[in-house]
Amino acid sequence: MNNTRKNTAPSTTPRGGNIDRRQVKKKKESTLDPRLFVKKAMPSGQAGFRTEKSFEDLPLNARLLANIQKKGYETLTTIQEQSILPLLDGRDMMAISKTGSGKTAAFLIPIIEHALKDPRNYTALVVTPTRELALQIEEEFKSLTAGLQLYSATFIGGTNINSDYKQLERKLQVVVGTPGRLLDLSDRKLLKLNQVNTLVLDEFDRMLDMGFVNDVKKLVNLIGKRDQTLLFSATLEPNQKQLISTLLHNPIEVKVENAGGTNENIEQQTIRVPEGADKFDILAGLVKSPEMEKVILFTETKRLADRLAKKLNQVGIAAGQIHGDKSQNFRNRMIEEFKKGDIRVLVATDVAARGIDVADVSHVINYQLPMTMDAYIHRIGRTGRAGKVGHAITFVN
Ligand code: ADP
Ligand code: MG
Repeated sequence: MNNTRKNTAPSTTPRGGNIDRRQVKKKKESTLDPRLFVKKAMPSGQAGFRTEKSFEDLPLNARLLANIQKKGYETLTTIQEQSILPLLDGRDMMAISKTGSGKTAAFLIPIIEHALKDPRNYTALVVTPTRELALQIEEEFKSLTAGLQLYSATFIGGTNINSDYKQLERKLQVVVGTPGRLLDLSDRKLLKLNQVNTLVLDEFDRMLDMGFVNDVKKLVNLIGKRDQTLLFSATLEPNQKQLISTLLHNPIEVKVENAGGTNENIEQQTIRVPEGADKFDILAGLVKSPEMEKVILFTETKRLADRLAKKLNQVGIAAGQIHGDKSQNFRNRMIEEFKKGDIRVLVATDVAARGIDVADVSHVINYQLPMTMDAYIHRIGRTGRAGKVGHAITFVN
């Protein structure tokens, strides 16, 4: 990595009297080199993200095209350019692409075309690791299919399963869900997995990280023979290749830019917490700055997320938190308030934040060093989306 370095001297100083001392005792310390988190943004990211190709040049249903344009999408992103035509042709696909590259529309647009051709018999199943991501995918589907009379539902844990029953009474062209709930509905003979034509495994790497490997295998077995399988991942670990090869049939392989690397249009810097300084005070001072319009603040633990949100509110900075101990309704409400700007800082743990697509996140702040480079890449991918310049700040002790 060719870094522009700012605060780069490696630190061995024990932390000062700051807020996370107790947390750190219990948790492993990150061994990542803080120098990895300093990098200048390359505003050319805009050019890398969009291609010259216009959606009008694709053989798409006119009303779908109108919906795409209504969303403000004019030209295709790189991954969309490489995948939409082969997917319209029914090919399997494996795509390695960083977050924020437009994967959702890349798979939904061909799915919608297939569904429009045979709405009574076509079903696509989109499997995601997290509830938030599932909801966002359905939201994108709804906006792309406004007025087209195609139907979707999202089945995720943490919600009352009875309300899922009702949704399954009508023909659904697109079902989105997390593995556990989908299997549950299948066990109850409510969801007919063997009718799936197109299977999408989104954020596959995270699905495996989160321990869903057996659930995914079960789902795939229940689906059985299908027309098309799409697998998306931000990273590709060599030990996943064997499993992937059993899922895909003669796939096109799409790899966009420096997958596994970080977004080029994100300005990355570190802030050193001097010994004895209060880390929270530094954070509060930083976040008070008006240019910090929408901030996602990452912590390693749920308890610290709660505590930081509370303390930020106490010093007059509107903040909320999302993590695994919060109900789905609570998390949805927080994300909604964050989108609308009612809260300026969303404190999050990794799992809860995965896949959040809130436009215009100006800053991602890592209150502690993330444990893995992969976590870091996914975190900072919440900002600098759709070719905009984003900012990532990582506290180092
Ligand atoms: P990924 O799944 O690769 O992380 P998303 O599908 O969530 O990325 O898209 C990231 C952002 O880019 C979203 O806000 C989406 O609305 C926007 N986007 C997607 N495709 C286009 C496009 N062709 N033109 C402009 N914006 C787009
Ligand atoms: Mg995505």
